[in-house]
Amino acid sequence: MADALKLILQAERELAASFEEVDRIALENQDRVLSAFRKNRICEEHFAERTGYGIDDYGREVIDQVFADVFACEAACVRMQMVSGTHAIACALFGNLRPGDKMVSLTGKPYDTLNKVIGANGYSAGSLSDLAVSYVEIDLTAVDTMTDSQLREAIAQVAPAKLFHIQKSRGYSTKRPTLSNTAIARLSRLVKDIDKEALVFVDNCYGEFVEEAEPVSMGADLMAGSLIKNPGGGLALTGGYVAGRRDLVDNALIRLTAPGIGGHLGVTFNQNRLVLQGLFLAPSVVSGAVKGAMLFAQALAKVGLKVDPAGPARRYDIIQAIEFGKREALIDFCRVLQSYSPVNAHVAPEPSEMPGYEDQVIMAGGSFIEGATIELSADGPLREPFAAYLQGGLSYLHVKTALRGVLSNCKVD
Ligand SMILES: *Cc1c(COP(=O)(O)O)cnc(C)c1O
Repeated sequence: MADALKLILQAERELAASFEEVDRIALENQDRVLSAFRKNRICEEHFAERTGYGIDDYGREVIDQVFADVFACEAACVRMQMVSGTHAIACALFGNLRPGDKMVSLTGKPYDTLNKVIGANGYSAGSLSDLAVSYVEIDLTAVDTMTDSQLREAIAQVAPAKLFHIQKSRGYSTKRPTLSNTAIARLSRLVKDIDKEALVFVDNCYGEFVEEAEPVSMGADLMAGSLIKNPGGGLALTGGYVAGRRDLVDNALIRLTAPGIGGHLGVTFNQNRLVLQGLFLAPSVVSGAVKGAMLFAQALAKVGLKVDPAGPARRYDIIQAIEFGKREALIDFCRVLQSYSPVNAHVAPEPSEMPGYEDQVIMAGGSFIEGATIELSADGPLREPFAAYLQGGLSYLHVKTALRGVLSNCKVD
């Protein structure tokens, strides 16, 4: 145990400059969030519960406006009726694509749960492909190593298209990096150069508040994400958001509810205060999670594990990949991590099938909110290279405590 702590404190010292940069970004984000609260004159009345249709729900309306201001975009919608990030993304895609349209993924194979939404791997009832939206993918995740003319050439081969999809976060992939918003801005600009009318959509899951700005303020038209990840700050009980150009957000809302209703109805299930409070804490929580990811990387690299990104590397999402190479080592890591959770520490995770996921997955995460990955958690698909994707942490202290547990108890080192 003494050795584990020594190793952690050493790693922390080595990360001092990186932590300073994380703090600088967090301060800017906190300032932006606070400004939006002040501008929108948030007050007790906005926390009131509404029932039934939720007509003229001031809380819902102000939350939409606060998110739009924080994300520096025309419009945003935040809805408890969006059951997950996948659902928010699906609303954005189905709302803005029509039969005969073409969708292009610029970042290769999308996140596992989107395969059935797109219908990318064969027939999937109700998918975009079932509704005659065609789909093509190219992989430009190496954007930072490519010249403008190389990128232009690659995009020109798949243009024109109605919508270009960019997944910011690496998701469950060891083969691609997470894209910076600068890289997303560059891709957006090149897409528009070639195809002026095309829409650029960003799957922003895990990206919020890691950088100083969000993709829609840097050239993308629309983005979506989950409230039980970064922007919910660990307090939102459920929900998703879509943000960007007003007409495109409206289209997503029409898909969520019905034509003629859009964003005008829908109660918030007495969640307004938690959603706002979670957003208010999000810059702090996300920066703690980023530091925690850096600390895990720096410490586990010292005991010989392959980590990506490296501890001090600049971050664009909260995910830390740790490769175990062996099935048993991955399972052991997840079990130890689970045992250092505030909730369900006494249960041992088992690999299992997950709806929407292709391989068996093992998930560690004894969270206050079920499945919340802004809380400390690790997911690992049971496939080569048996990597765990670690993310979250409501507090840096918890991540540090759990790391000490991992270093002391895992068989890996
Ligand atoms: C988590 C995630 C999703 C899907 O979100 P769920 O809430 O799990 O449905 C989509 N894309 C990326 C990159 C994600 O990380």
